[in-house]
Amino acid sequence: MVFIPYGRQSISDEDLQAVAAVLESDFLTQGPEVPKFERAIADYCGAAHAVAVNSATSALHIACLALGLGDGDVAWTVPNTFVASANCAIYCGASVDFVDIDPVTLNMSPKRLEEKLKFARAKGLLPKVVIPVHFAGLPCDMAKIGALAQEYGFHVIEDASHAIGASYGNGKVGNCQHSDITVFSFHPVKIITTAEGGLATTQSDDLAKRMQSLRSHGITRDAARMVNADEGPWYYEQTDLGFNYRMTEMQAALGSSQVIRLDEWVARRHRIADTYDQKLAHLPLVLPVRDDGSLSALHLYVVQVDETKTDLTRRQLFDAMRKAEIGVNVHYIPVHTQPYYQENGMAGVSFPASETYYRRCVSLPMFASLSNEDQARVIAVLEDIFSAQGDAIA
Ligand SMILES: *Cc1c(COP(=O)(O)O)cnc(C)c1O
Repeated sequence: MVFIPYGRQSISDEDLQAVAAVLESDFLTQGPEVPKFERAIADYCGAAHAVAVNSATSALHIACLALGLGDGDVAWTVPNTFVASANCAIYCGASVDFVDIDPVTLNMSPKRLEEKLKFARAKGLLPKVVIPVHFAGLPCDMAKIGALAQEYGFHVIEDASHAIGASYGNGKVGNCQHSDITVFSFHPVKIITTAEGGLATTQSDDLAKRMQSLRSHGITRDAARMVNADEGPWYYEQTDLGFNYRMTEMQAALGSSQVIRLDEWVARRHRIADTYDQKLAHLPLVLPVRDDGSLSALHLYVVQVDETKTDLTRRQLFDAMRKAEIGVNVHYIPVHTQPYYQENGMAGVSFPASETYYRRCVSLPMFASLSNEDQARVIAVLEDIFSAQGDAIA
């Protein structure tokens, strides 16, 4: 029996050739491939600028810095995310608080956000940056979050690590219509990959320039941004404290080659989800919401054990699936429950919707190259587990 992972990359002959061609060229870093990849993603998303870096974590970090997040500031994100969505604010010296999720969309609840903002305004503790996460690839209610950003005066970074290829009602995720910056991840389990890699899109010339500087030591070669007179062709200035967060030319070439198949892959993910929706409807599982007036990129297909219909626990379901060589996973352990966050202000704090969701959730295999045969095996194993449990299967 072959192990079926929950997510994996697809690499074509064209991808291999694109990477090999770079290895034989003059530039392995700081050549033409990174700007080419940035242009491809910016055009795809409908953003003025794209800044490629070595991970989404790095992109989140320089996005926070570019927006001026620093000591004494507060950033808000959701508990139902990967730790990087919260850690990025702490790197900047800011502190983090959380907004609970909507139990249906599993995204930041605009209602909880508004309540928390009202309370924070009364106490003079408004956030400087809010980081909604498009969980599983389903876009958050950005129109509402954007309206609250106007009203309460905070910046918005969309953590779209799951959501390249997704669209809101009127455009692609990454167009920053209701945000300052959108961040993507190209880790191999995500929708397209550059091995490690990430990218930030923005409509702002100024934010793009700041992020370009921060990803490369805070150095500029642009005379217009220099403090002193340009001393010659060799001259550069460090005007900020930046990092080495650059993406390599091989990674960018792989990304440019992958993005060609992005829409086709998202469509394939929807066909896989259609099959799951249909074949799992009779099991004691809560299936994910996909149609929210937007198109999900379907990074994940997460089911929840319906505790009103079965005694089987998530742990039992998880173990039985893994025993059958199905690589299910759990997304996510609520970030505020991590020991680091418990020691940094979150002890005794509860976000009930995220915690309830976490107790029940299992991510099933979902990736563009998942074969119909392998998906049928996933479904058959689930049916066997619930019928062995004695749960009625119609
Ligand atoms: C994967 C992921 C990240 C981090 O991405 P890297 O590219 O691995 O740094 C951040 N946020 C979310 C929601 C993610 O899923």
